[in-house]
Amino acid sequence: MEPKLSKGAFLLSLDTELAWGGLHNGKYRERVDLFEATRSAVARLLSLLGEYEIHATWAVVGHLLLRGCCQGAVKHPELVRPDYPWLRGDWLDPVPCSEEGADPLWYAPDMVESILSCAAEQEIGCHTFSHVIAGHPGCSRQCFESEVRACVDAARGWGLKLTSFVFPRNSVAHLDVLREQGFRAFRGSSDNGVLTKLPGPVGRVARGIKWVVPQPPLTASPEYRDGLWCLPDTSFYLHREGGAGLLPVAGRVLRAARGLHEAARDQNLFHLYLHPFNLATDPDPLLEGLEKIFRMVASKRDRGILDNPTMGELAHRLDAGVGSVA
Ligand SMILES: [Zn+2]
Ligand SMILES: [Zn+2]
Repeated sequence: MEPKLSKGAFLLSLDTELAWGGLHNGKYRERVDLFEATRSAVARLLSLLGEYEIHATWAVVGHLLLRGCCQGAVKHPELVRPDYPWLRGDWLDPVPCSEEGADPLWYAPDMVESILSCAAEQEIGCHTFSHVIAGHPGCSRQCFESEVRACVDAARGWGLKLTSFVFPRNSVAHLDVLREQGFRAFRGSSDNGVLTKLPGPVGRVARGIKWVVPQPPLTASPEYRDGLWCLPDTSFYLHREGGAGLLPVAGRVLRAARGLHEAARDQNLFHLYLHPFNLATDPDPLLEGLEKIFRMVASKRDRGILDNPTMGELAHRLDAGVGSVA
């Protein structure tokens, strides 16, 4: 079922993970500087979101909601561990048993507080509890379920109900667990062509170029899948790390301009996503680019031709049949 929206929509989702995003491959060690610069980039982003009244969904790794942890001898006994073939020792071995002030790359309640106090309302969504890769056979249903339950519990401590989900590495699986735990929406991936799926440098270059040219698919439709709303991403706001730094920010903005135009024209979704630490790779030009995009969104919204719901709001409307003619 693909309902037609009554109006085009701009969705913004942010995979908020700090060091957790590199737990599975140990890459968090190489990006400590970027993670340390992320809070300042997030503060600047929140101020832009407030200024242009842009609503976003922050898919936060559940552990970042904690102020501290590890009372007993075993780290998080409530979590069923993934069984990935490359793991040596326990999944949580690299993770500190500590608290927010001492290890700010593994705990971020301060960041959650700033998100919640943004001048424009923001949604806190879920990105698993410890950034497990759900679609890998090493992540059992029991593992995924324990991860999601831990997030739901942590969010409850904040008075938050989680309804939107973003899969780490966009690896979609176990949708039945999400539905059981009260989720209504997840971010899917639009088909971005064969080249972008290739491993190694060819795929990396293809993916990089993809996000700075205004080539289709630029928009997508929500889709009802296994009792949830799949809200496909249609653009990644490319960082400026490594070779991606050679690609002009103007390309990222041009792609968004075309996507927003088509979303408004065709009553479809333009769904942009990024990781907050991506902004720390070159904060000034990347935030200036985002500001240009937000200005376009605000202009179309003020002219009544584009909505800017959070993922959760859109799912709620779709559930209610509002915005649907199908
Ligand atoms: Zn912990
Ligand atoms: Zn992630």
